[in-house]
Amino acid sequence: MENLKLYNSLSNTIQPFAPIKRKQVGVYSCGPTVYNYMHIGNLRAFMFADITKRVLQYNGFNVYHVMNITDVDDKTIRDSNASGMSLNDFTKKYTHEFFKDLDSINIIHADRYPRATEHVDQMITMIQDLIDGGYAYISDDKSVYYDISKYEKYGELSGIDKAVLQNDTRGVNSADEYDKDNAQDFALWKAYDSSDGDASWDSPWGRGRPGWHIECSAMATSYLGKHFDIHTGGIDLKFPHHENEIAQCVVCSGGEPFADYWLHNEHLMVDGKKMSKSMDNFYTLRDIIDRGHDPMAYRYFLLQGHYRTQINFTWESLNASETALKKLRAKIADLRSASSWWSRLRADIDQPSFLRFLTAINDDMNTSEALATAWTVAKDSTLPPAIRYKTLIDFDRVLGLKLEQATTKKSNSSDIPFDVEYLLKQRESARADKNWQLSDELRDKITDLGYNVKDTADGQEISKN
Ligand code: AMP
Ligand code: ZN
Repeated sequence: MENLKLYNSLSNTIQPFAPIKRKQVGVYSCGPTVYNYMHIGNLRAFMFADITKRVLQYNGFNVYHVMNITDVDDKTIRDSNASGMSLNDFTKKYTHEFFKDLDSINIIHADRYPRATEHVDQMITMIQDLIDGGYAYISDDKSVYYDISKYEKYGELSGIDKAVLQNDTRGVNSADEYDKDNAQDFALWKAYDSSDGDASWDSPWGRGRPGWHIECSAMATSYLGKHFDIHTGGIDLKFPHHENEIAQCVVCSGGEPFADYWLHNEHLMVDGKKMSKSMDNFYTLRDIIDRGHDPMAYRYFLLQGHYRTQINFTWESLNASETALKKLRAKIADLRSASSWWSRLRADIDQPSFLRFLTAINDDMNTSEALATAWTVAKDSTLPPAIRYKTLIDFDRVLGLKLEQATTKKSNSSDIPFDVEYLLKQRESARADKNWQLSDELRDKITDLGYNVKDTADGQEISKN
Protein backbone atom coordinates (compact mmCIF):
# COMPACT_ATOMS: atom_id res chain seq x y z
CA MET A 1 0.00 0.00 0.00
CA GLU A 2 1.14 3.52 -0.79
CA ASN A 3 1.91 5.32 2.46
CA LEU A 4 1.30 9.03 2.82
CA LYS A 5 4.09 11.33 1.70
CA LEU A 6 4.03 15.09 2.25
CA TYR A 7 6.17 18.00 1.14
CA ASN A 8 7.69 19.48 4.28
CA SER A 9 8.69 23.13 3.93
CA LEU A 10 11.13 22.60 6.80
CA SER A 11 13.27 20.14 4.83
CA ASN A 12 12.15 21.27 1.37
CA THR A 13 11.62 17.63 0.46
CA ILE A 14 8.79 15.15 0.16
CA GLN A 15 8.90 12.95 3.24
CA PRO A 16 7.01 9.85 4.38
CA PHE A 17 4.51 10.95 7.00
CA ALA A 18 5.46 9.58 10.42
CA PRO A 19 3.21 10.85 13.23
CA ILE A 20 4.40 11.33 16.79
CA LYS A 21 1.73 8.95 18.09
CA ARG A 22 0.72 5.94 16.07
CA LYS A 23 -2.80 6.87 15.00
CA GLN A 24 -3.49 10.28 16.49
CA VAL A 25 -2.42 13.33 14.48
CA GLY A 26 -2.41 16.93 15.72
CA VAL A 27 -2.90 19.62 13.08
CA TYR A 28 -2.75 23.37 13.58
CA SER A 29 -3.86 25.70 10.79
CA CYS A 30 -3.45 29.44 10.74
CA GLY A 31 -6.99 30.67 10.56
CA PRO A 32 -8.73 33.77 9.30
CA THR A 33 -8.06 37.34 10.30
CA VAL A 34 -11.66 38.35 10.80
CA TYR A 35 -11.66 41.92 9.50
CA ASN A 36 -13.68 41.39 6.32
CA TYR A 37 -15.30 38.65 4.24
CA MET A 38 -12.83 35.95 3.26
CA HIS A 39 -11.73 36.24 -0.34
CA ILE A 40 -11.51 33.05 -2.33
CA GLY A 41 -7.70 33.12 -2.05
CA ASN A 42 -8.05 32.82 1.74
CA LEU A 43 -10.51 30.02 1.18
CA ARG A 44 -7.88 28.16 -0.80
CA ALA A 45 -5.83 27.98 2.44
CA PHE A 46 -8.82 26.68 4.43
CA MET A 47 -9.77 24.22 1.73
CA PHE A 48 -6.17 23.00 1.78
CA ALA A 49 -6.38 22.42 5.54
CA ASP A 50 -9.64 20.54 4.91
CA ILE A 51 -8.02 18.30 2.28
CA THR A 52 -5.07 17.64 4.57
CA LYS A 53 -7.44 16.49 7.28
CA ARG A 54 -9.55 14.39 4.92
CA VAL A 55 -6.46 12.69 3.46
CA LEU A 56 -5.20 11.87 6.95
CA GLN A 57 -8.61 10.50 7.92
CA TYR A 58 -8.83 8.45 4.73
CA ASN A 59 -5.51 6.92 5.79
CA GLY A 60 -7.07 5.87 9.08
CA PHE A 61 -5.62 8.57 11.33
CA ASN A 62 -7.63 10.29 14.04
CA VAL A 63 -7.11 13.97 13.49
CA TYR A 64 -7.34 16.66 16.13
CA HIS A 65 -7.56 19.89 14.16
CA VAL A 66 -7.15 23.33 15.66
CA MET A 67 -7.60 26.55 13.70
CA ASN A 68 -7.25 29.93 15.32
CA ILE A 69 -9.37 32.99 14.77
CA THR A 70 -7.20 36.12 14.63
CA ASP A 71 -9.56 38.58 16.25
CA VAL A 72 -6.96 41.12 17.33
CA ASP A 73 -4.11 42.38 15.17
CA ASP A 74 -3.14 45.49 13.21
CA LYS A 75 -5.87 44.94 10.57
CA THR A 76 -8.81 44.07 12.85
CA ILE A 77 -8.05 47.12 15.00
CA ARG A 78 -7.65 49.42 12.00
CA ASP A 79 -10.91 48.35 10.36
CA SER A 80 -13.05 48.02 13.49
CA ASN A 81 -12.06 51.61 14.36
CA ALA A 82 -13.00 52.74 10.87
CA SER A 83 -16.37 50.98 11.13
CA GLY A 84 -17.19 52.53 14.49
CA MET A 85 -17.93 49.09 15.94
CA SER A 86 -16.25 47.60 18.98
CA LEU A 87 -13.46 45.15 18.13
CA ASN A 88 -15.54 42.34 19.59
CA ASP A 89 -18.73 43.07 17.61
CA PHE A 90 -16.76 43.69 14.45
CA THR A 91 -14.76 40.45 14.56
CA LYS A 92 -17.79 38.39 15.65
CA LYS A 93 -19.61 39.52 12.52
CA TYR A 94 -16.83 38.35 10.20
CA THR A 95 -16.23 35.16 12.18
CA HIS A 96 -19.86 34.30 11.55
CA GLU A 97 -19.43 35.00 7.82
CA PHE A 98 -16.29 32.86 7.78
CA PHE A 99 -18.21 29.82 9.06
CA LYS A 100 -20.89 30.38 6.44
CA ASP A 101 -18.20 30.30 3.74
CA LEU A 102 -16.72 27.09 5.12
CA ASP A 103 -20.14 25.44 4.98
CA SER A 104 -20.78 26.67 1.45
CA ILE A 105 -17.83 24.69 0.14
CA ASN A 106 -18.25 21.74 2.48
CA ILE A 107 -15.17 22.30 4.61
CA ILE A 108 -15.26 20.09 7.69
CA HIS A 109 -15.05 22.23 10.79
CA ALA A 110 -11.94 22.04 12.94
CA ASP A 111 -12.27 20.53 16.43
CA ARG A 112 -11.38 23.86 18.04
CA TYR A 113 -11.44 27.48 16.87
CA PRO A 114 -9.60 29.36 19.61
CA ARG A 115 -9.86 33.14 19.49
CA ALA A 116 -6.75 35.20 20.11
CA THR A 117 -8.54 37.60 22.49
CA GLU A 118 -9.42 34.66 24.76
CA HIS A 119 -5.80 33.48 25.10
CA VAL A 120 -3.94 36.63 26.08
CA ASP A 121 -2.91 35.11 29.45
CA GLN A 122 -1.13 32.23 27.70
CA MET A 123 0.62 34.75 25.42
CA ILE A 124 1.78 36.80 28.40
CA THR A 125 3.21 33.67 30.04
CA MET A 126 5.18 32.81 26.91
CA ILE A 127 6.48 36.36 26.53
CA GLN A 128 7.62 36.34 30.16
CA ASP A 129 9.45 33.04 29.55
CA LEU A 130 11.20 34.56 26.54
CA ILE A 131 12.27 37.62 28.59
CA ASP A 132 13.46 35.39 31.45
CA GLY A 133 15.45 33.25 29.03
CA GLY A 134 17.17 36.31 27.55
CA TYR A 135 15.49 35.99 24.16
CA ALA A 136 13.33 39.07 24.44
CA TYR A 137 13.74 42.61 25.74
CA ILE A 138 11.53 45.46 26.84
CA SER A 139 11.87 48.61 24.77
CA ASP A 140 11.67 52.20 26.06
CA ASP A 141 7.98 52.47 25.20
CA LYS A 142 7.24 49.25 27.17
CA SER A 143 6.75 47.07 24.14
CA VAL A 144 8.49 43.70 24.10
CA TYR A 145 10.63 42.47 21.20
CA TYR A 146 12.11 39.12 20.31
CA ASP A 147 15.86 39.38 19.73
CA ILE A 148 16.28 37.22 16.63
CA SER A 149 20.07 37.16 16.99
CA LYS A 150 19.66 35.05 20.16
CA TYR A 151 17.90 32.20 18.43
CA GLU A 152 20.57 30.31 16.54
CA LYS A 153 18.25 28.53 14.18
CA TYR A 154 16.35 31.65 13.15
CA GLY A 155 15.75 31.39 9.40
CA GLU A 156 15.63 27.57 9.42
CA LEU A 157 12.20 27.50 7.77
CA SER A 158 12.43 30.44 5.39
CA GLY A 159 16.15 30.37 4.71
CA ILE A 160 16.84 34.02 5.45
CA ASP A 161 20.38 35.29 5.12
CA LYS A 162 22.16 34.60 8.44
CA ALA A 163 24.14 37.83 8.03
CA VAL A 164 20.92 39.66 8.93
CA LEU A 165 21.07 38.16 12.41
CA GLN A 166 24.57 39.43 13.06
CA ASN A 167 23.85 42.90 11.81
CA ASP A 168 23.83 45.14 14.88
CA THR A 169 22.17 47.98 13.04
CA ARG A 170 19.25 45.63 12.45
CA GLY A 171 16.17 47.48 13.60
CA VAL A 172 12.96 46.47 15.29
CA ASN A 173 9.69 45.89 13.57
CA SER A 174 6.46 46.61 15.32
CA ALA A 175 4.24 45.69 12.33
CA ASP A 176 2.70 42.22 12.18
CA GLU A 177 3.58 41.75 8.52
CA TYR A 178 6.90 42.49 6.81
CA ASP A 179 9.06 40.79 4.22
CA LYS A 180 12.06 38.50 4.27
CA ASP A 181 14.60 41.15 3.30
CA ASN A 182 13.50 43.06 6.34
CA ALA A 183 14.11 40.47 9.03
CA GLN A 184 14.18 42.38 12.28
CA ASP A 185 13.45 41.94 15.94
CA PHE A 186 9.72 41.50 16.03
CA ALA A 187 7.04 42.63 18.46
CA LEU A 188 5.79 40.15 21.05
CA TRP A 189 3.86 42.81 22.96
CA LYS A 190 2.85 46.20 21.66
CA ALA A 191 2.52 49.01 24.19
CA TYR A 192 -0.87 50.70 24.11
CA ASP A 193 -1.35 53.34 21.48
CA SER A 194 -4.48 55.49 21.32
CA SER A 195 -5.20 54.11 17.82
CA ASP A 196 -5.65 50.67 19.44
CA GLY A 197 -9.08 51.79 20.72
CA ASP A 198 -10.62 49.19 23.02
CA ALA A 199 -8.00 46.52 22.20
CA SER A 200 -5.74 46.40 25.23
CA TRP A 201 -4.89 44.16 28.17
CA ASP A 202 -2.88 44.55 31.35
CA SER A 203 0.52 42.88 31.39
CA PRO A 204 3.67 42.92 33.54
CA TRP A 205 5.01 45.52 31.06
CA GLY A 206 1.98 47.75 31.11
CA ARG A 207 -1.16 47.98 29.03
CA GLY A 208 -0.94 46.79 25.48
CA ARG A 209 -1.76 43.99 23.09
CA PRO A 210 -0.01 40.89 21.77
CA GLY A 211 1.85 40.72 18.47
CA TRP A 212 0.31 38.46 15.85
CA HIS A 213 3.03 35.78 15.92
CA ILE A 214 2.80 35.02 19.64
CA GLU A 215 -0.95 34.56 19.22
CA CYS A 216 -0.57 31.44 17.07
CA SER A 217 2.29 30.09 19.19
CA ALA A 218 0.17 30.35 22.33
CA MET A 219 -2.98 28.88 20.79
CA ALA A 220 -1.19 26.04 18.99
CA THR A 221 0.66 24.87 22.10
CA SER A 222 -2.38 25.38 24.37
CA TYR A 223 -4.42 22.87 22.37
CA LEU A 224 -1.85 20.58 20.79
CA GLY A 225 1.02 20.61 23.26
CA LYS A 226 4.58 21.77 22.73
CA HIS A 227 5.32 19.28 19.99
CA PHE A 228 2.78 18.19 17.42
CA ASP A 229 2.59 16.84 13.89
CA ILE A 230 1.42 19.27 11.23
CA HIS A 231 1.18 23.04 10.85
CA THR A 232 -0.53 24.50 7.77
CA GLY A 233 -0.94 27.92 6.23
CA GLY A 234 -0.56 29.88 3.01
CA ILE A 235 2.94 30.25 1.57
CA ASP A 236 2.97 33.98 2.44
CA LEU A 237 2.93 33.02 6.12
CA LYS A 238 6.21 31.10 5.91
CA PHE A 239 8.03 34.33 6.66
CA PRO A 240 7.84 36.06 9.05
CA HIS A 241 4.82 34.46 10.76
CA HIS A 242 5.85 30.80 10.84
CA GLU A 243 9.55 31.54 11.29
CA ASN A 244 8.62 33.62 14.33
CA GLU A 245 6.22 31.01 15.67
CA ILE A 246 9.04 28.45 15.64
CA ALA A 247 11.51 30.84 17.30
CA GLN A 248 9.02 31.48 20.10
CA CYS A 249 7.83 27.93 20.67
CA VAL A 250 11.15 26.11 20.53
CA VAL A 251 12.60 28.44 23.15
CA CYS A 252 9.53 28.25 25.42
CA SER A 253 9.51 24.47 25.29
CA GLY A 254 13.17 24.26 26.30
CA GLY A 255 14.42 23.21 22.88
CA GLU A 256 11.77 20.68 21.92
CA PRO A 257 10.76 20.76 18.27
CA PHE A 258 7.47 22.52 17.53
CA ALA A 259 5.59 21.16 14.47
CA ASP A 260 7.24 18.30 12.58
CA TYR A 261 5.67 19.02 9.19
CA TRP A 262 5.10 22.50 7.78
CA LEU A 263 2.68 22.45 4.87
CA HIS A 264 2.10 25.54 2.76
CA ASN A 265 -0.43 26.11 0.03
CA GLU A 266 0.48 28.27 -2.96
CA HIS A 267 -1.50 31.32 -3.90
CA LEU A 268 -4.63 31.81 -5.84
CA MET A 269 -3.77 34.35 -8.50
CA VAL A 270 -5.67 36.85 -10.62
CA ASP A 271 -4.03 38.04 -13.84
CA GLY A 272 -0.69 36.75 -12.63
CA LYS A 273 -0.88 38.51 -9.23
CA LYS A 274 -1.65 37.11 -5.78
CA MET A 275 -5.30 37.62 -4.92
CA SER A 276 -5.32 39.93 -1.91
CA LYS A 277 -7.39 42.56 -0.22
CA SER A 278 -4.58 45.08 -0.40
CA MET A 279 -4.32 44.70 -4.19
CA ASP A 280 -8.10 45.03 -4.46
CA ASN A 281 -8.15 42.18 -6.97
CA PHE A 282 -10.26 39.78 -4.96
CA TYR A 283 -13.57 37.96 -5.17
CA THR A 284 -15.54 36.50 -2.31
CA LEU A 285 -17.78 33.47 -2.31
CA ARG A 286 -20.68 35.95 -2.34
CA ASP A 287 -19.49 37.23 -5.74
CA ILE A 288 -19.54 33.65 -7.00
CA ILE A 289 -23.05 33.06 -5.67
CA ASP A 290 -24.32 36.46 -6.89
CA ARG A 291 -23.25 35.57 -10.40
CA GLY A 292 -25.47 32.50 -10.20
CA HIS A 293 -22.80 29.88 -9.59
CA ASP A 294 -22.91 26.94 -7.23
CA PRO A 295 -20.19 27.68 -4.63
CA MET A 296 -19.24 24.00 -4.75
CA ALA A 297 -17.91 24.70 -8.25
CA TYR A 298 -15.12 26.59 -6.51
CA ARG A 299 -14.29 23.49 -4.47
CA TYR A 300 -14.13 21.46 -7.69
CA PHE A 301 -11.99 24.20 -9.26
CA LEU A 302 -9.45 23.95 -6.43
CA LEU A 303 -9.34 20.15 -6.52
CA GLN A 304 -8.14 20.35 -10.11
CA GLY A 305 -4.85 21.96 -9.12
CA HIS A 306 -2.07 20.79 -6.83
CA TYR A 307 -1.89 22.77 -3.63
CA ARG A 308 1.76 23.64 -4.23
CA THR A 309 1.16 25.28 -7.59
CA GLN A 310 -0.27 28.72 -8.15
CA ILE A 311 -3.71 28.68 -9.76
CA ASN A 312 -5.05 31.52 -11.82
CA PHE A 313 -8.69 32.30 -11.16
CA THR A 314 -10.91 33.18 -14.13
CA TRP A 315 -14.69 33.07 -14.50
CA GLU A 316 -14.26 30.84 -17.56
CA SER A 317 -12.39 28.23 -15.55
CA LEU A 318 -14.99 28.43 -12.78
CA ASN A 319 -17.68 27.84 -15.41
CA ALA A 320 -15.80 24.84 -16.73
CA SER A 321 -15.50 23.45 -13.18
CA GLU A 322 -19.21 23.93 -12.62
CA THR A 323 -20.05 22.04 -15.81
CA ALA A 324 -17.72 19.20 -14.85
CA LEU A 325 -19.20 19.02 -11.36
CA LYS A 326 -22.73 18.86 -12.78
CA LYS A 327 -21.67 16.02 -15.06
CA LEU A 328 -20.09 14.11 -12.22
CA ARG A 329 -23.22 14.53 -10.12
CA ALA A 330 -25.36 13.37 -13.03
CA LYS A 331 -23.16 10.29 -13.37
CA ILE A 332 -23.62 9.51 -9.70
CA ALA A 333 -27.36 9.94 -10.02
CA ASP A 334 -27.38 7.60 -13.02
CA LEU A 335 -25.34 4.99 -11.21
CA ARG A 336 -27.72 5.21 -8.31
CA SER A 337 -30.74 4.80 -10.54
CA ALA A 338 -29.17 1.90 -12.34
CA SER A 339 -28.43 -0.07 -9.19
CA SER A 340 -30.66 -1.32 -6.43
CA TRP A 341 -30.14 -0.28 -2.86
CA TRP A 342 -29.17 -3.78 -1.80
CA SER A 343 -26.68 -4.17 -4.63
CA ARG A 344 -25.11 -0.92 -3.49
CA LEU A 345 -25.17 -2.15 0.07
CA ARG A 346 -23.48 -5.41 -0.86
CA ALA A 347 -21.07 -3.94 -3.42
CA ASP A 348 -17.38 -3.71 -2.66
CA ILE A 349 -15.21 -0.78 -3.57
CA ASP A 350 -13.29 -1.47 -6.76
CA GLN A 351 -9.82 -2.32 -5.44
CA PRO A 352 -7.65 -1.29 -8.43
CA SER A 353 -9.41 2.09 -8.53
CA PHE A 354 -9.09 2.48 -4.78
CA LEU A 355 -5.34 1.85 -5.00
CA ARG A 356 -4.97 4.39 -7.80
CA PHE A 357 -6.91 6.94 -5.76
CA LEU A 358 -4.91 6.25 -2.60
CA THR A 359 -1.64 6.48 -4.51
CA ALA A 360 -2.70 9.87 -5.87
CA ILE A 361 -3.75 11.42 -2.56
CA ASN A 362 -0.79 9.92 -0.73
CA ASP A 363 1.55 11.42 -3.28
CA ASP A 364 1.65 14.76 -1.47
CA MET A 365 -2.12 15.15 -1.87
CA ASN A 366 -2.37 15.06 -5.64
CA THR A 367 -6.05 15.96 -5.81
CA SER A 368 -6.13 16.50 -9.57
CA GLU A 369 -4.96 12.92 -10.12
CA ALA A 370 -7.49 11.74 -7.51
CA LEU A 371 -10.25 13.57 -9.36
CA ALA A 372 -9.12 12.04 -12.65
CA THR A 373 -9.34 8.59 -11.01
CA ALA A 374 -12.89 9.37 -9.90
CA TRP A 375 -13.79 10.23 -13.48
CA THR A 376 -12.25 7.00 -14.75
CA VAL A 377 -14.46 5.06 -12.35
CA ALA A 378 -17.52 7.10 -13.30
CA LYS A 379 -17.00 6.25 -16.96
CA ASP A 380 -15.84 2.64 -16.65
CA SER A 381 -18.75 0.67 -18.07
CA THR A 382 -16.94 -2.63 -17.45
CA LEU A 383 -17.73 -2.20 -13.74
CA PRO A 384 -21.26 -2.75 -12.40
CA PRO A 385 -23.07 0.51 -11.47
CA ALA A 386 -23.31 -0.43 -7.80
CA ILE A 387 -19.55 -0.89 -7.50
CA ARG A 388 -18.87 2.36 -9.32
CA TYR A 389 -21.35 4.19 -7.12
CA LYS A 390 -19.90 2.80 -3.93
CA THR A 391 -16.33 3.54 -5.04
CA LEU A 392 -17.13 7.15 -5.92
CA ILE A 393 -18.97 7.75 -2.65
CA ASP A 394 -15.92 6.42 -0.86
CA PHE A 395 -13.61 8.77 -2.80
CA ASP A 396 -15.89 11.62 -1.84
CA ARG A 397 -14.69 11.29 1.74
CA VAL A 398 -11.63 13.13 0.43
CA LEU A 399 -13.07 15.12 -2.48
CA GLY A 400 -15.96 16.45 -0.39
CA LEU A 401 -18.17 17.15 -3.42
CA LYS A 402 -21.33 15.94 -1.66
CA LEU A 403 -21.80 13.33 -4.35
CA GLU A 404 -24.21 11.30 -2.25
CA GLN A 405 -26.63 14.20 -2.36
CA ALA A 406 -26.60 14.28 -6.17
CA THR A 407 -30.17 14.15 -7.42
CA THR A 408 -31.57 13.03 -10.74
CA LYS A 409 -34.52 13.95 -12.90
CA LYS A 410 -34.91 10.27 -13.63
CA SER A 411 -36.73 8.15 -11.10
CA ASN A 412 -34.65 7.78 -8.04
CA SER A 413 -34.06 4.14 -7.23
CA SER A 414 -35.61 4.59 -3.81
CA ASP A 415 -38.89 5.46 -5.62
CA ILE A 416 -38.71 2.30 -7.65
CA PRO A 417 -40.90 -0.53 -6.40
CA PHE A 418 -39.22 -3.54 -4.95
CA ASP A 419 -40.32 -5.86 -7.78
CA VAL A 420 -38.90 -3.53 -10.45
CA GLU A 421 -35.61 -3.31 -8.56
CA TYR A 422 -35.55 -7.08 -8.38
CA LEU A 423 -36.11 -7.42 -12.14
CA LEU A 424 -33.42 -4.85 -12.84
CA LYS A 425 -30.98 -6.80 -10.78
CA GLN A 426 -31.89 -10.02 -12.62
CA ARG A 427 -31.46 -8.24 -15.91
CA GLU A 428 -28.07 -6.91 -14.88
CA SER A 429 -26.85 -10.47 -14.27
CA ALA A 430 -28.48 -11.72 -17.48
CA ARG A 431 -26.61 -9.07 -19.42
CA ALA A 432 -23.38 -9.83 -17.63
CA ASP A 433 -23.89 -13.47 -18.79
CA LYS A 434 -24.68 -12.20 -22.30
CA ASN A 435 -28.10 -13.88 -22.06
CA TRP A 436 -29.82 -11.41 -24.38
CA GLN A 437 -33.06 -13.35 -24.64
CA LEU A 438 -33.59 -13.32 -20.89
CA SER A 439 -32.54 -9.69 -20.80
CA ASP A 440 -35.28 -8.81 -23.31
CA GLU A 441 -37.91 -10.80 -21.44
CA LEU A 442 -37.03 -9.00 -18.24
CA ARG A 443 -37.24 -5.66 -20.02
CA ASP A 444 -40.79 -6.54 -21.11
CA LYS A 445 -41.74 -7.41 -17.54
CA ILE A 446 -40.33 -4.09 -16.36
CA THR A 447 -42.32 -2.25 -19.07
CA ASP A 448 -45.48 -4.06 -17.94
CA LEU A 449 -44.89 -2.64 -14.46
CA GLY A 450 -44.81 0.89 -15.88
CA TYR A 451 -41.07 1.52 -16.21
CA ASN A 452 -38.68 2.00 -19.12
CA VAL A 453 -35.23 0.57 -19.06
CA LYS A 454 -32.52 1.88 -21.33
CA ASP A 455 -29.05 0.40 -21.75
CA THR A 456 -26.27 2.96 -21.77
CA ALA A 457 -22.49 2.74 -21.69
CA ASP A 458 -22.87 3.24 -17.95
CA GLY A 459 -25.35 0.44 -17.41
CA GLN A 460 -29.15 0.36 -17.10
CA GLU A 461 -31.07 3.59 -16.78
CA ILE A 462 -34.56 3.39 -15.40
CA SER A 463 -37.38 5.90 -15.76
CA LYS A 464 -41.14 5.89 -15.27
CA ASN A 465 -43.35 5.48 -18.37
P1 AMP B 1 -5.62 36.04 6.59
O1 AMP B 1 -7.10 36.03 6.80
O2 AMP B 1 -5.13 37.25 5.84
O3 AMP B 1 -4.87 35.83 7.87
O4 AMP B 1 -5.27 34.82 5.66
C1 AMP B 1 -5.80 33.55 5.88
C2 AMP B 1 -5.08 32.53 5.06
O5 AMP B 1 -5.23 32.81 3.65
C3 AMP B 1 -3.57 32.47 5.28
O6 AMP B 1 -3.18 31.10 5.39
C4 AMP B 1 -2.98 33.09 4.04
O7 AMP B 1 -1.70 32.60 3.77
C5 AMP B 1 -3.98 32.64 3.00
N1 AMP B 1 -4.00 33.43 1.76
C6 AMP B 1 -4.09 34.78 1.65
N2 AMP B 1 -4.14 35.13 0.34
C7 AMP B 1 -4.09 33.99 -0.39
C8 AMP B 1 -4.13 33.67 -1.78
N3 AMP B 1 -4.23 34.62 -2.71
N4 AMP B 1 -4.06 32.38 -2.16
C9 AMP B 1 -3.98 31.40 -1.23
N5 AMP B 1 -3.94 31.60 0.10
C10 AMP B 1 -4.00 32.89 0.52
ZN1 ZN C 1 -0.87 31.76 12.49
